[in-house]
Amino acid sequence: METNECQFDTIMKQFFHITFAMVTMILMLSMGTTAFAQDIADETPSIEVSYDQAIFEAFQTYLAATDTLPTTDEKNRLFVDGFFSQYKDDFGLIVIKKDDGSEASPQEVDELFQRCITLLEEEEAKIITVQNLNQENEDSSFLKNLSSLEVRQLAIRVGVIGILVLILITIVALWAKAKKKKKPVADNDMYATDTNPSNSGNNEASNDVIIRKKTSSVLNKQSLEDVVNNSNYLAINCADFCTDTAVKTMYIKNTCIIDIYNMYAEDLRNPDNPKEDGCMVLGRWVHDEQCDEYAVSLEEVVFPGDDAVFAEYELDFGGKIKVKVNEKLRKLRRETGLQYDLTCWVHSHPGLGVFFSNTDSNLHLIHKHPSHPKFLTAIVVDILTPQQELGVFTFKHDMGINSKADLTQLYSLEEWYKWAIGSRRNSVAIEEHYNTLDKAKSRNKGCYNIQLSNSTIIDIDLIATSQNHEGLYFVHGFTMQQMDQTSIIAVKIDNAETIVDNELIGCFMVVTHRSYPTIKEEVANYLGRIGFVMVYSVSDGILTTIPVVDNDLCADESYYGEQPLEELKIWTRRKR
Ligand SMILES: [Zn+2]
Repeated sequence: METNECQFDTIMKQFFHITFAMVTMILMLSMGTTAFAQDIADETPSIEVSYDQAIFEAFQTYLAATDTLPTTDEKNRLFVDGFFSQYKDDFGLIVIKKDDGSEASPQEVDELFQRCITLLEEEEAKIITVQNLNQENEDSSFLKNLSSLEVRQLAIRVGVIGILVLILITIVALWAKAKKKKKPVADNDMYATDTNPSNSGNNEASNDVIIRKKTSSVLNKQSLEDVVNNSNYLAINCADFCTDTAVKTMYIKNTCIIDIYNMYAEDLRNPDNPKEDGCMVLGRWVHDEQCDEYAVSLEEVVFPGDDAVFAEYELDFGGKIKVKVNEKLRKLRRETGLQYDLTCWVHSHPGLGVFFSNTDSNLHLIHKHPSHPKFLTAIVVDILTPQQELGVFTFKHDMGINSKADLTQLYSLEEWYKWAIGSRRNSVAIEEHYNTLDKAKSRNKGCYNIQLSNSTIIDIDLIATSQNHEGLYFVHGFTMQQMDQTSIIAVKIDNAETIVDNELIGCFMVVTHRSYPTIKEEVANYLGRIGFVMVYSVSDGILTTIPVVDNDLCADESYYGEQPLEELKIWTRRKR
């Protein structure tokens, strides 16, 4: 859409210049006012667009053709039926483009066209007056050397040009109106997630405007208090990787790193031809006015839609991501009352190395905040290097952008990911988990707590109530060491033995009746790798948790945890 708008803009400007050039040319020829002409000519750029050239040439052709016609009426008809009607559709196209296709532009064009005819008719009356005047003043000094026909031609030309200028003014006025209407989109938009706000996105964006217009003139509360010294955030001192940076500190949330890592892990499934890929990151920012430096947080990742194009020389996040970013920003701002914005964008250079290309710089400038341009950061990853080399690019104090040459160190996505996984584990809120061994008569230190997450309980229920729950399921999560007691945290249950981000920690099965030998036989291959086995019996609705101690399924039932599944379900509901 922007392209069209730009086109329109260019066309309008150039058409305007053309008309000016024509007015100038004719004024110069007929009146010899070269000084005025020079002033205008200085402002007139060369005409390059073929479309404009076509209109210009057609205009000249029609103008020349009028010379052969004897009456003014015929001349005017030629313009109305010829030039204007031929280019009417083009004007219509322009008007439609200008209004984003949303308004009934053909009507406007017709109105405009009707106005042209009226104006031509009015001009006609004036021309006749001029003609009469001419005949009366055939010897007047000003027109002494011009024949009556020449005067008529001149009058027609001036009249037509006047009309053209009027049309232009009308179009420009309409365009300015449309632009004014649109302006809040640009300003309150998440400041252009991309250069191509798509047609589809536009309607939604317009809806956004109404909502955001009221709120975004004033920024929400700006704070990073909860992020500083928070173990869920990786704090990066930007002075560690470059000397001149407007962003002083970055706080990157562990889940954000995990999301980015997983996005590229997916791309690496086909390592022979990994495509370039990217995402946007939302977070908060705080401005230190004294030294004009920012602290930013990177918290929520937004992935592009299916209209994104990532290629070696093309980086287009598409229009759909813009809608997603706007929705998420609104949600975050509403839920937290804090000022969330686009604080970072991420893309890969698989096998090309870490650097910031001209395209990247352009995109960086496009994505910056309109009133606080300098807090935006960018991450470039070469996912084909062993450690997944990564560079962080920020604005300098003078609005320049740091280049590869300015970077004193690169980071590693692999390292960041390891940190993120560890950090997330340490921050697990145990009180948000159901401990199935809580009421066990005996507890073994090697398997002291088995903590089920909400989603694990939901998974159990889904499997237990499904028609087909044959076979073995795998519980994924991690272990935590507290003093000499080991707690096992179950995150989710899956058909697959391995899943990203989590380890295999247990097995789950649905049985009709519990039978120790049957269970042991079923999980025999996994006993060396798991910490417990969970069994749901359909006959009594009881979930039994059996610890695995010393690579063997515990036979002593006093160590078992036993609860009706219903109790766990009620617990999850009560928590909400
Ligand atoms: Zn790039």
